[in-house]
Amino acid sequence: MQHHFLSLPVSRRHWLLRTGAGLAAGSIALGAASGSMAQTTLATKLKVLVSFSILADLVKVVGGDAVEVSSLVGANEDAHVFEPKPSHAKTLLGSQLLVVNGLDFEPWMTKLVRSASYKGKTVVASQGVKPLTMQEDGHTETDPHAWQNPLNVILYVNNIAQALASVDPAHAADYQARAQAYVQQLQELDSWAQSMFKEVPKAQRKIITSHDAFGYFAQHYQIQFLAAQGLNTESEPSARQIAKLVQQMRREKVRTVFLENMSNPRLITQLSKEAGAQVGATLYADALSAPDQPGATYLGMMRHNIDKLAQSLKP
Ligand SMILES: [Zn+2]
Repeated sequence: MQHHFLSLPVSRRHWLLRTGAGLAAGSIALGAASGSMAQTTLATKLKVLVSFSILADLVKVVGGDAVEVSSLVGANEDAHVFEPKPSHAKTLLGSQLLVVNGLDFEPWMTKLVRSASYKGKTVVASQGVKPLTMQEDGHTETDPHAWQNPLNVILYVNNIAQALASVDPAHAADYQARAQAYVQQLQELDSWAQSMFKEVPKAQRKIITSHDAFGYFAQHYQIQFLAAQGLNTESEPSARQIAKLVQQMRREKVRTVFLENMSNPRLITQLSKEAGAQVGATLYADALSAPDQPGATYLGMMRHNIDKLAQSLKP
């Protein structure tokens, strides 16, 4: 929570600057640069708007110098409870490509696109991912947190490369090459994670977090995650739900509870006290960290999460 308040004024200021720059440069025609190197200047960068910080990193990796990326929901901020402002509509209107997660992660996006009268291209980064579902309050919900499995992010990166190429065909080969190089890094990350968790007996792979953000991670690495909140952070759990989770933690001897970088720590603190478990590291769930922290990039946040989880689970 503290994080959240600290980061807000900075990102606001950032937004105002970006909006001004976006509108000024938006009038320069794309793809008009035929041949002349001099025309590949700052002003001709492709303006890409993404819904949240993790996508911003992926677009920067694939887009390189050819793109200028803005994110609606910033580092350490919670996309589940985001409320777009008129300034966000303005930024969207000045963008040439919109990248969203999909899988119902951004329920506020439809309204924003409509209110901005945005007519540009939109790409759903998670397209092609096999969605996981969860039973919540008696109905089936789609789990939006697909980026928590690095192999899904291979699809994200390929979708992003394709979308960038369709809006900016002049740089298509560059986008493709950067995506390919990054896919290799994702595969290396996955192999490393597999080797880290191999040392932990499956019966001991149990983790508690604030909300159900780790379903794809859990399935892929065969770790059981229990959460105090459901798939989004909007509703607070009831006293009865918390009591039930505490009972389960005691029964299954869960030793560590983990904080999330964009969630209120109060719930986790309460759980640790009631169940006699220790509070572990902060995991990066739905947002990157500030630039000077380990979760400043997607690869950084995943390495941090895997390292902290494996450390706490090791016998
Ligand atoms: Zn979430």
